[in-house]
Amino acid sequence: MKIRAALAYIVFGLIFGLSCNNNSNNKSLMDNNFKNPDYSHIDTNKVVVNNEEWKKRLSPEVYHIAREKGTERPWSSKYENSKEIGTYYCAVCGNSLFESDTKFESGCGWPSFYKPISKTSIIYAQDGSHGMQRTEVMCGRCGSHLGHVFNDGPPPTGLRYCINGVVLDFATARAAEAKYNSGQQKNQDGNK
Ligand SMILES: [Zn+2]
Repeated sequence: MKIRAALAYIVFGLIFGLSCNNNSNNKSLMDNNFKNPDYSHIDTNKVVVNNEEWKKRLSPEVYHIAREKGTERPWSSKYENSKEIGTYYCAVCGNSLFESDTKFESGCGWPSFYKPISKTSIIYAQDGSHGMQRTEVMCGRCGSHLGHVFNDGPPPTGLRYCINGVVLDFATARAAEAKYNSGQQKNQDGNK
């Protein structure tokens, strides 16, 4: 009986491990399947949704970090070493969080920034979990857990916002410009 239980545990572990890999490889697919209807890069209204509803709206991976204050494995985010120029948004609600020019290589294993886009991008809370005193950072629009901020960052702020890549969306400056231009074009067509 014990052997059967152990086997079941191993099989479960394998399936879970594989599904985790699939999650990270197919992030864009997952995002499409679980897009939050309140997602917006423009709307600044607060998003207040209960956990049952968040479970339906978010992929399990994003839900775990954003709503259960989970932490992704270090060195696992594609954004950790990215040097692309653009804007990082909350993957849950689309709120703009960080510009790429405030990103730096901290060596901590998670995407790191020294300054949020605005004072309202982020909200802060004291976090005494795991026997440590840390400052938790959450999205200013939807309250999702993003990561923590520490006092060992570079100038000019001296801060290190250590953020889970799973809860970040990124748009290159070029993509944003193309989107803006296509919107302008539509407006012009509409005025004809
Ligand atoms: Zn958000």
